[in-house]
Amino acid sequence: MIYDVVVVGAGPTGSTAARYAASYGAKVLMIEEHASIGTPVECTGLLSTRAVAECDIDPDDDFVLNSVRGAFVHSPNGTCLPIDGGKTKAYVVSRKIFDRRLASMAVEEGTELLLKGRVTGMTEEEGIRALSVMHMGKPTTIRTKMVIGADGVKSTIARHAGLGKVERVLSGIQVEAPYNSDNDDFVELFVGSRAPGFFAWTVPVNEKISRIGLAVEKGNEHNAIDYLKEIISADPHICDRHSRSTLDLVVGGIPIGPLERTYTDGVLIAGDAAGQVKPTSGGGIYTGAACAKIAGEVAAKAALEGDVSAQRLGSYEKRWKSELGRELGIGMRIHDFAGGMSDDELDEMIMSMNNPAILEMITKYGDMDHPSRLIKKLLNPMNSRHLIGVFRAFAKAVL
Ligand SMILES: Cc1cc2nc3c(=O)[nH]c(=O)nc-3n(C[C@H](O)[C@H](O)[C@H](O)COP(=O)(O)OP(=O)(O)OC[C@H]3O[C@@H](n4cnc5c(N)ncnc54)[C@H](O)[C@@H]3O)c2cc1C
Repeated sequence: MIYDVVVVGAGPTGSTAARYAASYGAKVLMIEEHASIGTPVECTGLLSTRAVAECDIDPDDDFVLNSVRGAFVHSPNGTCLPIDGGKTKAYVVSRKIFDRRLASMAVEEGTELLLKGRVTGMTEEEGIRALSVMHMGKPTTIRTKMVIGADGVKSTIARHAGLGKVERVLSGIQVEAPYNSDNDDFVELFVGSRAPGFFAWTVPVNEKISRIGLAVEKGNEHNAIDYLKEIISADPHICDRHSRSTLDLVVGGIPIGPLERTYTDGVLIAGDAAGQVKPTSGGGIYTGAACAKIAGEVAAKAALEGDVSAQRLGSYEKRWKSELGRELGIGMRIHDFAGGMSDDELDEMIMSMNNPAILEMITKYGDMDHPSRLIKKLLNPMNSRHLIGVFRAFAKAVL
């Protein structure tokens, strides 16, 4: 038996790719190493309304735990910038239920699902890919015309296909814990040396429980867990609201900066495996789903039409880059510039943004999936006159 498309990994990217491939008439198998979809969770579960829509699902009570409409951004000196989107901008979700919903949709579309199957190798025999799979402890081989590697940050498929690995990976850590939110319609972000190179967050599940976490660049003085312990035990804002007990712990890598190449003969790489993650927020669901749809379509058509050459599959990379490449590139420049700012510079910038005209602009044009849109508006001389030099330098460096 030879499949048209085998998708490795049943996260949001894999399920979306499998669903799309099956919808084009391909015989699809999705392989997941765990016994259960959606666990373990390595995510805060904050999804923009656009991310949920990109996955073709309605936000219903099943997986949505809370809705948020804005953020309180805390500068290192404690200044708080309130950003109110005015309406629901994002959902706080149960990733377990969300991932299961996406996998069920792939199965309903005709995808076969193999659980507890870990892909350990991939070879090619006369144009057919042979995947070595450890299934329930027994080795087996699965043959397919096309493979989609949606197997996350440590992608086995990208490595075996000779496409390398994402070089830059942030270390993320988070606890779910009792936390008295000032307003559970808002997330809280903490920038500066408390989380070097990225930021810390509290994301309210409800008014009494939040997901408190951070991500940091690798190579800092301390590791992510030390920074989290420090912020939970020493930041006055968090200490006042958090009782220090923990209900859940999440650790994981956040790949930023896409693979140089995401396709080769018979293979496409998508989602975290390909580094298709927003470098500004670490969010990978929206970008992963957008790329997965293209991967599913390209893989199915290539397999069904009998041409799985790299030359043909290059259309996948062209299409995802034309949809997201520019925003990911700008996002990386924002990430690098903001990550290099000192606490004093961040204090100054946040204070200069705490101005009614600027806040109105942020409300109107702020978009967590497309931050470049807001930066362009803020650079307009009419708006940027409110902003100090450090912001102008920031905006010019990233656009
Ligand atoms: C701390 C933290 C917080 C985050 N918060 C957010 C957030 O709020 N919003 C957001 O959008 N994103 C967030 N992310 C990122 C988000 O979790 C990922 O971008 C997203 O899960 C990527 O989906 P994926 O399907 O590409 O990969 P994954 O979700 O990693 O799925 C890959 C799947 O492949 C399986 N697999 C791996 N290797 C094999 C193998 N060899 N054989 C078979 N199966 C295999 C894995 O078990 C897994 O199920 C966060 C990440 C971290 C670490």
